[in-house]
Amino acid sequence: MRAIVLDRPGAFRVAEVPDPAPRPAEIVVRVECCGICGTDLHILAGEFPPTPYPITPGHEFAGIVVARGAGAAADLTEGTRVAVDPSLFCGRCRRCRAGRGNLCENWGAIGDTVDGAFAEYVAVPAVSAYRLPPHLDGQYGAMAEPLSCAVHGLRRLGPVLGSSAVLTGAGTMGLLLLQLLLRAGAGPVTVVDRIPARLEVARALGAAATAGDGGALAGERFDVAVDATGVPAAIEAALGLLDRGGRMLVFGVAPAEAAIGVSPFRIYNDELTIVGSMAVLRSFGAAVDLLSSGAVDPRALLAEPLPLAGFGTAVDRVRAGQGIKWHIRP
Ligand SMILES: [Zn+2]
Ligand SMILES: [Zn+2]
Repeated sequence: MRAIVLDRPGAFRVAEVPDPAPRPAEIVVRVECCGICGTDLHILAGEFPPTPYPITPGHEFAGIVVARGAGAAADLTEGTRVAVDPSLFCGRCRRCRAGRGNLCENWGAIGDTVDGAFAEYVAVPAVSAYRLPPHLDGQYGAMAEPLSCAVHGLRRLGPVLGSSAVLTGAGTMGLLLLQLLLRAGAGPVTVVDRIPARLEVARALGAAATAGDGGALAGERFDVAVDATGVPAAIEAALGLLDRGGRMLVFGVAPAEAAIGVSPFRIYNDELTIVGSMAVLRSFGAAVDLLSSGAVDPRALLAEPLPLAGFGTAVDRVRAGQGIKWHIRP
């Protein structure tokens, strides 16, 4: 089969590699669509420490079951369309046993630590596959993974009914978080992004107000802040916009060595709550249900998928902030 192979950081190619065969309890999926995200850029740049090289990346995917190993669930017959939770938790460490598998001491994920879905076929644990209803195509299915991260984030943030909110970053994750915030009853929601076209999408999806940067909101106060940029200055600005008693979700991935200034007095005196959210935790099924029911509609985020040979083009477009979500159709 053909697959994207990263031989080392910075060097990828479309390669001919052996087809995967299902081991016991695994299925093989013919990949219909695989999304490219910030993590892939970090893996490409050698900035995602758990990644071994060579590797085939790709962790946001859906496709068709084409083979089943011994002991794989009987309902995952050939021809079934599935989305796949890429999480590979060990199940044995202290955190897994405490129900926090996303913080697993032996954390792994398909496309991050083992070969993923920028390939024609990928072998995955059958228990990680979720059946998709007939009306969801592979590109919709590939949105289940980013949406499941957003679902986990919103669960970490807690109830938002009747809360005013400011959301920084209107890329894929920001626009999915926006839809979840609105569905969960937050409002009004103000969205901040420096790209005007993304703010237009945010307004179309229900944002009450938009701004090009946090500075434009000086003097306003919000019950809830969500950062989906990972830019330290944006996170600092969002914290500054919190009302007393406010809660902030740090969702965007900041550089590991970055630091921000926070007033401990304000955290104490204003009873601020700051929570983080890392990847997926028992949120994949909810994401599939939200997509299936139409409660979250990813259409405004999607572009026509590119072939495997267009991987470099897709990477360039993500880096340039062109469009919102790019998919590869191997
Ligand atoms: Zn991702
Ligand atoms: Zn573990």
